[in-house]
Amino acid sequence: MEKLIIIKYGEMTTKKDNIGLFLKKLKENVAFVLREEQTTIQYDSGRMFIYCQNNNFDSVLARLQKVFGIHEIIIGYELPNNDIEEIKKNLKELIMTVDFKTFKVETKRSNKKYPLTSPEINHVLGGIVLKTKPDIKVDVHNPEIIIYTEIRLEKSYLYFEKYKSCGGYPVGTLGKGLLMLSGGIDSPVAGYLAMKRGVKIEAIYFESPPHTSFQAKNKVESLARILSTYNQDIKLHIIKFTEIQEAIYKNIPHEYLITIMRRMMYRICAIVASKSNCKIIVNGESIGQVASQTLTSMNAINRVVNIPVIRPLACFDKLEIIEISKKIQTFDTSILPYEDCCTIFVPDHPVINPEIAKCEEYEQLIPYEDLIYQAIRTKEVKIITAHDKKFEDML
Ligand code: ATP
Ligand code: MG
Repeated sequence: MEKLIIIKYGEMTTKKDNIGLFLKKLKENVAFVLREEQTTIQYDSGRMFIYCQNNNFDSVLARLQKVFGIHEIIIGYELPNNDIEEIKKNLKELIMTVDFKTFKVETKRSNKKYPLTSPEINHVLGGIVLKTKPDIKVDVHNPEIIIYTEIRLEKSYLYFEKYKSCGGYPVGTLGKGLLMLSGGIDSPVAGYLAMKRGVKIEAIYFESPPHTSFQAKNKVESLARILSTYNQDIKLHIIKFTEIQEAIYKNIPHEYLITIMRRMMYRICAIVASKSNCKIIVNGESIGQVASQTLTSMNAINRVVNIPVIRPLACFDKLEIIEISKKIQTFDTSILPYEDCCTIFVPDHPVINPEIAKCEEYEQLIPYEDLIYQAIRTKEVKIITAHDKKFEDML
């Protein structure tokens, strides 16, 4: 018998028409995260089988647990045939390696011509376990371990270890989105949730040197790197926002600074998204969190673009957002204390009910179209890779 990892597909199995595309992406994404591991991958209609060459089960499991579209991961054993005597013999060996007091056996039989029914197989295998370990008991309601058997057409499988995975749809099946990635807590979580729905992410970061430091930019790159463990690589667009921000600061009434600044960000995002074939903008806005996220502010800001803006956190409390950011391991990086370009130019009394007419009037005070064009023309693009050896060596 050979130890292996079995992947069960998730929610995508309900998308009958798109199943081909979903599976293709899932295979690509699995192959990508395992590119540095020595494995052989085989597929059938409902499962993926991963054979690990050098006992690297833990690291392969950890990488697979970040692949959206996987519902469940099993560490189990493959038998070259489905002969009941063979299964009994191997089960006997296997249960000697695990400690337990109560158990039950569950059988799945995709080979419907098999001479024994599932309850009969449960009975036979349960008998073997009781004979091999006389001091243990069957408990069908709350067993310490469940011994799973799967009888397939030619082979059979035995396992006790099942792990939940992150669910969702394979990244890329729903196309691309442009994530507004700041150094804060919210936007990485928003990106994670969008990826979970199958959206492949490119990221955009607005920096304002010298008002923002290179540490602030490094922090955003680190966040993109953490997110890239779920997304394959992440293309990060870095926009120099200094001139726009200074022009706004010098010429526009300060209570409107943030509103106008965000309208400029949105305009730039829409252009970059369209050039990069991103169908939506994604950001970390949450209703009521700050002055620029009141409904009136969101309306005044959103007006300047036609592309849909998806806000996965719109209705989340901060505590709920923090919980996810800890789970996905972006929290510790997000709370590092480097200034972001928004925080530097924050006025004492930002308007919470901005008027669209005033936004339009004030924007005439700066040559914003030229400034936007210039910012996009000079943007920097970086490809952020998850398993970057150089980066890992620096840690
Ligand atoms: P976060 O919301 O990520 O914790 P934040 O609270 O500093 O950061 P907000 O002022 O709440 O940011 O901005 C709302 C959203 O706008 C952010 O979640 C992010 O998507 C986007 N955003 C803000 N600043 C930037 C920036 N410098 N570059 C890219 N996107 C930004
Ligand atoms: Mg925020």
